[in-house]
Amino acid sequence: MHYTGEVYRHPMEANTPLLEVTIGCSHLACTFCTMYRNTPFGISPMEHIEEDLEELKSYGRPVTRLFLVNADAFVLSTDKLARIAERIISYFPEVETITCYASIKNLKNKSPDDLKRLRKLRYNDLHIGLETGYNPALAMLNKGFDKEEAYRQLYKLKEAGFQYDALLMLGAAGKGKSEINARETANLLNETKPYMVTVLPISVVPGSKLETLCQNGEYVEQTELEMLEEEKRLLSLLEIKNCYFFGSHYFNLVPVSSDLKYKKEIIEYIDRAMKEMDEAVLHRVKPRGRL
Ligand code: SF4
Repeated sequence: MHYTGEVYRHPMEANTPLLEVTIGCSHLACTFCTMYRNTPFGISPMEHIEEDLEELKSYGRPVTRLFLVNADAFVLSTDKLARIAERIISYFPEVETITCYASIKNLKNKSPDDLKRLRKLRYNDLHIGLETGYNPALAMLNKGFDKEEAYRQLYKLKEAGFQYDALLMLGAAGKGKSEINARETANLLNETKPYMVTVLPISVVPGSKLETLCQNGEYVEQTELEMLEEEKRLLSLLEIKNCYFFGSHYFNLVPVSSDLKYKKEIIEYIDRAMKEMDEAVLHRVKPRGRL
């Protein structure tokens, strides 16, 4: 298989075959992210995609779900995504879902008809890096869109029949802004109804632009306790049916995932875990790691 540089996928896609169609990230500007800093953005040639599909086929296993890497494979033009899906379907007629990471910016360059065409070609379950629904935090993270744009694009996506997973970053708004961050984010999700909500705490990665913002005092980190309180606040505000809450990334201090209909139990579980936790751990800021 052709895998170039860093390759990431959602933890829930651990059993999904990965097909490389892009390399790195087309945006490469989020202040908190260093994931693809050594990998210039690129687009895989169709020959490589064809060779990888042949290799996948040679394993003799049915493929009902396929994850396109890398960071925002949905940046590709509608025609290219359609060509890729047609090749996938010719190798694996049984495929039900072609999924990938996508950004709000990627949706902006697709018309409603483009999205309906791609949905018919079995694209679905896009993992979308929203991080937050709070405009000052979106600007600080340099996501390249604001919440109004997120509403517009997500409505368009839903209208085309897509499900989406909202990727969120706890603590994105910084110290003292937990309440408004949770509220604005919950408003966005309650309106656009993702089928999954994925939360992980923000991390200040050495060498990231966010580290510089921290050093300049333009961003003040929350403690672990504040991020867990934000997670509970967000959960309490979410009113979405048929939604899975995923909070079991290895960065989550209290790993917990469940159907959102059990949100009361999830909140109680986090509460119990916090009570058993060392005070020093709760009052520290998250140790700096790579993201
Ligand atoms: S968070 Fe996603 S969109 Fe932003 S730079 Fe990193 S990989 Fe690219």
